Amino acid sequence: MKRAMLLCLLALALTALAGCGGRADLAFEERYAIDGDLDPAGRTMTYTQRAEITNTGTDETKELWFHLYANMYKGLFQTEDGDVAVTSVTDGAGAPLRYERSQEGVLYWVELAVPLAPGETAVVVFGCEVTIPDLAQKYGVSKAGDLQLPGFNLQLAVYDENGWDTDPLQEEGDGRYARTADYDVTVRAPEGYALACNGDELAVTDLAGVTEYRYRCLDRRDLVLIASKGYVRRERQAGDVRVLGYFDPNTAMVTETAMDQVMDAAAFALQYFGELFGPYPHQTLVVTNAALGTNFAVSMEYSGLITVYFDGDGSTSGKEMVTYHEVAHQWFYAAVGSDENREPWLDEAFAEFAGYLCLEAAGSDWPCWEIAANAAGAEQVKDDKVDLPADEHPVYQWGVYDRGCLCLKELMDAMGRDAFLAVLRGYCQDHWMGIAATADFTAAVRAAAGSDGAVEDILAKYIQN
Ligand SMILES: [Zn+2]
Repeated sequence: MKRAMLLCLLALALTALAGCGGRADLAFEERYAIDGDLDPAGRTMTYTQRAEITNTGTDETKELWFHLYANMYKGLFQTEDGDVAVTSVTDGAGAPLRYERSQEGVLYWVELAVPLAPGETAVVVFGCEVTIPDLAQKYGVSKAGDLQLPGFNLQLAVYDENGWDTDPLQEEGDGRYARTADYDVTVRAPEGYALACNGDELAVTDLAGVTEYRYRCLDRRDLVLIASKGYVRRERQAGDVRVLGYFDPNTAMVTETAMDQVMDAAAFALQYFGELFGPYPHQTLVVTNAALGTNFAVSMEYSGLITVYFDGDGSTSGKEMVTYHEVAHQWFYAAVGSDENREPWLDEAFAEFAGYLCLEAAGSDWPCWEIAANAAGAEQVKDDKVDLPADEHPVYQWGVYDRGCLCLKELMDAMGRDAFLAVLRGYCQDHWMGIAATADFTAAVRAAAGSDGAVEDILAKYIQN
């Protein structure tokens, strides 16, 4: 994510539900099917979501935890008029299951009728009603009437060495922590709207006064739906990848020239990062303009879709930098997952660093490294460890983005560019479509650098884990 303006966040009282007891050996694979009806004018969507959860661990479990991340925006921004309400939870045969809602509806606990044994698959079907608020940061309806609906669905919580991830929301960072999963999405909307999703479009069918869209989203770490009456479509080819742009010219600064700049930048970055870190894993990347709120806009990454704020300091480099950063998240967030609450630098600093490399490769003379070094050396963060949890950084932007980026730059300078980029490529390969921690990265650095004292000094200076 990159914010265009700092937001004034209201304090939020959080209550964490107690997690599970002793840690069992649990692991899961997930497949989801969503079938919904979107009414943009009425600002509602009703959908059912079928979750097929396979236990790939060695212990059984009777409980499953799900996140419903869209409700985080309501909690963080105190919007009263938007909610994703779960109205029913049943098994595959329609029998009701016990469930509890917590954390303002971000977290759901579901009790299965019978324990889910290793190798078995449980089906949980959720009925949901969405009421869509005015844009709250990344979620809702913009003044131009553009809908952005990230995380409107339920997503099985990660089960890791700490058990189920039921960490409460934090005010800083993007807050997500998820495995990849496959999604089949069917959504109907009134004629006249253009819809897009962070997956491959399978079919668009005209029904009576309604258009039905079907998408398949494979290996996605999240789900996002966008819709607008005003979208125009643009297209580029980046090697084998189709870049699909959906832009609303009714949104300030979304001009023909700016659309071209963003599309060209996205195509360039896809190819550049593909060569550097491994091929982009999907057939399509969707690019859209960030929806404008009353005093903010947020560029954001999803798995296979990015939103780009079109001001970008009013300069070509600013707009391109934002695009490069969000495309880089397709590697550092979407392909290689991490916990955005506990170690947000693993996606943000790496995307910032990769974005700067891309900026250089594109021939820009924007002084990105100097800007990062200045921010990273500020009094408030100059001793900050980059791998702190999101809410422990004295100044989140400077500590996570700038200081994290500088840490990677210093490692590259100490090890040599080729050696360090080989470490990053190996780190991506080792955790491709998985989840990585800071210790995985530092182990990869040490495996390549041996007992290099300069590298150890940099790790000790910047990293606590
Ligand atoms: Zn970011």
